[in-house]
Amino acid sequence: QEASLLHLFFFLHSISCNNLCMTLKIAIVGRPNVGKSTLFNRLAGKKLAIVDDQPGVTRDRRYASGHIGDIDLDLIDTAGFEDVADTSLEARMRQQTEKAIEECDVALFVMDAREGVVPLDRIFADILRFKDKPVILIANKAEGHAGFAGAEEAHVLGFGAPLHLSAEHGEGISELYEALEKYRQLIEGDFIADEDEDEDEDTKPVRIAIIGRPNAGKSTLINRLLGEDRLLTGPEAGITRDSISVDWEYEGRKIRLVDTAGLRRKARVQEKLEKLSTADTIRAITFAEVVILVMDQENAFETQDLQIADLVEREGRALIYVISKWDTVEEPQARLHELSEIAERMLPQLRGAPFVALSALNGRGLDRLMPAVLKAYRNWSAKVKTRDLNDWLKLAIQRHPPPAVDGKRIKPKYMAQTKGRPPTFVLFASRAYAMPAHYQRYLINSLRESFDMPGVPIRLSVKANA
Ligand code: GDP
Ligand code: GDP
Repeated sequence: QEASLLHLFFFLHSISCNNLCMTLKIAIVGRPNVGKSTLFNRLAGKKLAIVDDQPGVTRDRRYASGHIGDIDLDLIDTAGFEDVADTSLEARMRQQTEKAIEECDVALFVMDAREGVVPLDRIFADILRFKDKPVILIANKAEGHAGFAGAEEAHVLGFGAPLHLSAEHGEGISELYEALEKYRQLIEGDFIADEDEDEDEDTKPVRIAIIGRPNAGKSTLINRLLGEDRLLTGPEAGITRDSISVDWEYEGRKIRLVDTAGLRRKARVQEKLEKLSTADTIRAITFAEVVILVMDQENAFETQDLQIADLVEREGRALIYVISKWDTVEEPQARLHELSEIAERMLPQLRGAPFVALSALNGRGLDRLMPAVLKAYRNWSAKVKTRDLNDWLKLAIQRHPPPAVDGKRIKPKYMAQTKGRPPTFVLFASRAYAMPAHYQRYLINSLRESFDMPGVPIRLSVKANA
């Protein structure tokens, strides 16, 4: 019954995380001849629908709907104003650009990677700066991954490093997708802020939880880890109504042990809790980034352990297996081998998750725990460069081509990482609906190996590329 409650919890949780799609309004701005119309046409795709042909309206802005991956776009192109002769070019240009920016959610500011920054680009940069809209700077005509000198000086425009793109050849589209996906999430309000990833990366504590069945050796391990009998006495600071968190530092890195409520209760009432408390386990997994699953070497990986590990994977946390009471083992090598085989077989979704065998009683093996925690945390936070990802995708497909459906091949097109913690990827493919689960598993396993993310729960969604 507990297990089915857990399933219900995670099922509800996953529903609430799904979003409804919305359309992103995109203005494509920049000086003449940089490739705005070409980009507009590419994003509008085949079903180009120009809707501005109302009589008496100048054709200064073109509108179309389009998409990039699964993001629906309303496109506004500002090309064409140079044909208008009645007012000065610059005034006209300024007006059109301003209107387009006002209408949009995100502006794509296009420059020419080959020509570099010219004075007219700076005028556009000024216009954009005074509008409070997100801007993605695009260095176009950068086909062949060429690092054009012109693109390198683009930072003088004040919008950071440009995204290299070739509108004509369709290169760099996954990078553009990735950038737009961030804004979509932002606008939809479910953006997972990266705030703790850059400058705060090293100052925010790594949140860990130590969980496992009763008697696995959790309290003993925690006390040993903290070097004092803290848990039994209870650190007064940090006690909230029913959870305890303990902060310390390991090699300059802040660590926060979250939610030891179940342990504390046990300590207080001086008796063994007979069964695993589902609520405590769920809460600990939810609050933690790295979960340490403690198992007595004698009976590790029994049903409940497998259930907990599976929960950790489904919640997308980093996981470490601690095999405790290692002082009681008779043949360490053989036992470790045996246990890792069980793990590989019973928990293939966590392939490569680290094992730490230790004795909290005599301290042997304990020095390997925190380095393993920090490594797991780093892998779990990993960001793979979009270009590396797409290079990898090509190879992965070559090595093991996707199957055909009704005589037609499923064609993976491109890929992007949309989030870290856990690493989350989206793959666009033709006939995505037919992509078999085993092929997705192949891709996930290959990703894990290629980008060194052992044991990390990887999320991959395959979406239609119409
Ligand atoms: P707009 O005036 O900014 O709308 O620019 P256009 O889309 O009309 O493109 C201007 C010229 O640049 C055309 O000759 C395009 O074929 C060319 N062009 C556009 N995109 C690319 C690209 O990615 N690479 C190269 N080499 N040429 C491009
Ligand atoms: P918890 O219920 O998971 O918190 O488990 P405890 O830490 O209370 O440990 C349960 C029992 O296992 C206690 O009797 C501990 O003394 C014993 N124990 C814990 N760690 C070790 C260990 O590394 N070696 C041995 N031999 N016994 C241990």
